[in-house]
Amino acid sequence: MGVFKSTYPAIPLPDVDVYTFLLANNEFNTQYPHDRKVVIDGPTGRSLTYDQVRNLSTRMAAGWQDKVGLKKGDIVASFAPNQYDHIMVYLSLLGANVTVTPGNPSYTEAEFLHQISNSGAKALVTVPALLPILTKVCAKVGIPKDRIFLYGEKDVDGYKSVYSLVGDRQILPPLTGINSNEDVAFICYSSGTTGLAKGVQLTHRNFVSQTLLMNGMEEESEKEEEKVDDVVLGFLPFFHIFGLTVLCFNTFYKMTPVVVIPRFEIQMFCELIEKYKITLVSIVPPVAVALAKHPIVSKYDLTSVRLLGCGAAPLGKEHIDALALRMPALLKQGYGMTETTSGVITQKNTGGAPGSIGVLCPNHECIIVDVVTRKELGPDQEGELLMRGPSIMKGYLKNDKANAETFQGDWMCTGDIAVFDSKSQEFFIVDRLKELIKFKGFQVAPAEVEALLMGMTEVADCGVVGVYDSAQATELPRAYVVPQAGVEPDNVLAKKIIDYVAKNLTNYKQLRGGVRFLDAIPKNASGKIMRRQIREIAKKEDAQV
Ligand code: AMP
Repeated sequence: MGVFKSTYPAIPLPDVDVYTFLLANNEFNTQYPHDRKVVIDGPTGRSLTYDQVRNLSTRMAAGWQDKVGLKKGDIVASFAPNQYDHIMVYLSLLGANVTVTPGNPSYTEAEFLHQISNSGAKALVTVPALLPILTKVCAKVGIPKDRIFLYGEKDVDGYKSVYSLVGDRQILPPLTGINSNEDVAFICYSSGTTGLAKGVQLTHRNFVSQTLLMNGMEEESEKEEEKVDDVVLGFLPFFHIFGLTVLCFNTFYKMTPVVVIPRFEIQMFCELIEKYKITLVSIVPPVAVALAKHPIVSKYDLTSVRLLGCGAAPLGKEHIDALALRMPALLKQGYGMTETTSGVITQKNTGGAPGSIGVLCPNHECIIVDVVTRKELGPDQEGELLMRGPSIMKGYLKNDKANAETFQGDWMCTGDIAVFDSKSQEFFIVDRLKELIKFKGFQVAPAEVEALLMGMTEVADCGVVGVYDSAQATELPRAYVVPQAGVEPDNVLAKKIIDYVAKNLTNYKQLRGGVRFLDAIPKNASGKIMRRQIREIAKKEDAQV
């Protein structure tokens, strides 16, 4: 019984904002020359050195204040596929003392509107391809044209490039007037344990902690090994917490070069690994499957990769074994959430038991509680995982109800079912208590799809769950529907429902798991959908196929 504590020594955390922290002298940036290329654009080869990122971001930071009039507490939205100057723009906003809300560039108009209006963003940074849709959204929420900026150096149709903000004045660290424990650096969106996407407020301290503890664990695990000069492949989205922390902040902190690609495309992925002799790659399970199976992979020399970090969803042993045959790199699995500022339980760099998520990161504690009685459980007993530590979010933005549901005292409920295995001394995620569905690492909130379906005249009731597709190592959203009286539950209706979702929600929220019909959606006495029961129905149906 009791609290599980990290076995790593505690890491002292400086009381500092993330801009000052990242731009201050540290053991890495005093070791490497500052003309070292720290970001490289994969497709074009364009790059920025450490000095350039520093110089541009400190001058752009002043531009946000002087030319746009932003001040502390203002929020700026960023919607873009990965850019090689993403880190520079993020730093500039932090330097201007504003909060960034990054989001998925593949959203639909309604999804953009939700994040921009819910966060209260006052300005926007995006790419030209998204202007048609985002200008409409900005008009609705009152963000004027002169507050919409573009990644890249070109102005387009009167919309200014972020580089237009670079002037002579610089905002040099240290920043003043920031309470690192209270002030919010990023608001990322996550549906949490229930409902629609909510703004996850992550403080400066959350990011400082995350960077230092990841680095501390690596140092600890690697001290016996010969240290190598790493090169990282940056394809995970920089708007998601995994990409933001691992590929933007951790790499910049250590001056590790990142080769940036806008999205996963297997050939470019392999080409860039070979070309830049990439040593570290962070992946999600479906990418592990592609690397294990796709014929093109064997045409490239991928032996430079020493470590594959895999997170965001579970990866089964069959995929781990298949990948090992193709790539000799060590596979390190980790667990985290947007709400925990990324990884809080990860395997050591020396490896872990197959399928485990590893050990607690420094400065973090957890308990595992019985899902009904909420009593603390001991090793080898499955229950809900609750986390505590400096990487845990401040709370959801303007949402007392969700905060009350998510925090049990100072413990944050993850909604994941975990077990501590006394033999391996590692944690395993065994199930999910919360309703969230993850398609290829992206969140699909069932409540959002259900609300949409309930707007169809043919639908009397519905429940959406994830069904696991082991071939692709991902869950697929599936809708269980009760048709209105007199409506035929046939293939025509199923297709109509699938098409309706395709028209209204972004690509990764599509009903790839199909539509099935039921006479009634299982609900408890208070009318709550019993998703576990629906998932059991799904499992039985799929077993029969
Ligand atoms: P996100 O906030 O999008 O990062 O999603 C967080 C959720 O992803 C967690 O609460 C888990 O349900 C799931 N997750 C993340 N990493 C893992 C992992 N290694 N194994 C199983 N589930 C994971």
